[in-house]
Amino acid sequence: MRHVDKFYGDFHVLRDIDLSVARGERIVICGPSGSGKSTLIRCLNQLEEHQKGEIVIDGTAVHARLKGIEDIRREIGMVFQSFNLFPHLTALENCMLAPMKVRGIPKAEAEATARKILERVHIPEQAHKYPIQLSGGQQQRVAIARSLCMNPKIMLFDEPTSALDPEMVSEVLDVMVELAESGMTMLCVTHEMGFARKVADRVIFMDAGEIVEVAPPERFFTAPQNERTRKFLGQIL
Ligand code: ADP
Ligand code: MG
Repeated sequence: MRHVDKFYGDFHVLRDIDLSVARGERIVICGPSGSGKSTLIRCLNQLEEHQKGEIVIDGTAVHARLKGIEDIRREIGMVFQSFNLFPHLTALENCMLAPMKVRGIPKAEAEATARKILERVHIPEQAHKYPIQLSGGQQQRVAIARSLCMNPKIMLFDEPTSALDPEMVSEVLDVMVELAESGMTMLCVTHEMGFARKVADRVIFMDAGEIVEVAPPERFFTAPQNERTRKFLGQIL
C-alpha cells in the first residue's frame, strides 16, 4: 500500500497508509475500535475501494473495476469475526464449494483436499456436521479450512477470535500459529497479544485511520515509541 487514502463519504477513514508486506511475512494489526483496521484489510482485496494511492498485490495494482479482480480475490483468503459458514452445508461441503464452483475442481478431488485440510485444522471428525452442530471454535476452524481449500497466497484475518467464548480462543489461535509456521503470508487484525509475540514479524498499531507505529513484537511491547501506542497497550495488557 502506497499513500493510500480512503473515505466513506466525507469521513477520512484511512490516512496516507504506507505498508509493504513481504511474501511469508506475518503482520499483526491492532488498535482501538473504529481506527480503520477492518477497512484497511478489506481494501486489500477491494471489498472496499480506496480513493487515493496504490495497492499492489503480487505485482498487480488493484482497484474495484480492475478486470480480473475476481482472480486476485480468490488468491486471498479471508476469515472474519463471525464465521459466515453456509448453514445448509456440512463442514466438508463448506470446504468443497468454492474449489468446485470457482476453480472448477472435480468433486472427488475437492473432497480429498477438504478432508486433508479439515485434518490440518484438527477437526476431521466434524466433516459431516452442520455449522449449528459445531462449537464457535470448531466453526472458526472450518472457516479457516474453507479458505485454505482455495490454496490462497495471502490470508487475512479480521478479529477471528473476538466472537468466541474464552475457552475456545486458543484452539483457533493454535491453528493460526501452525499456519504462520507453515510460511503463509498473513495479516491478522487481533488483540491477542500472545499470538502477536509468538508469530508476528511486525506489529502495526493504528489509530484514527493512521498507522502510528510499526515494530517487531519485542520492541512493540517493551519499548513502544508513540504515546498513543503506550496508552493502548496500557489498556489491553
Ligand atoms: P476497526 O476495524 O478498526 O474497528 P473500521 O475499519 O471498521 O474500524 O471502521 C473505521 C471507521 O469507519 C469507523 O468510524 C466506522 O464507523 C467507519 N465505517 C466503517 N465502515 C463504514 C461504512 N461502510 N460506511 C461509513 N462508515 C464506515
Ligand atoms: Mg474491525
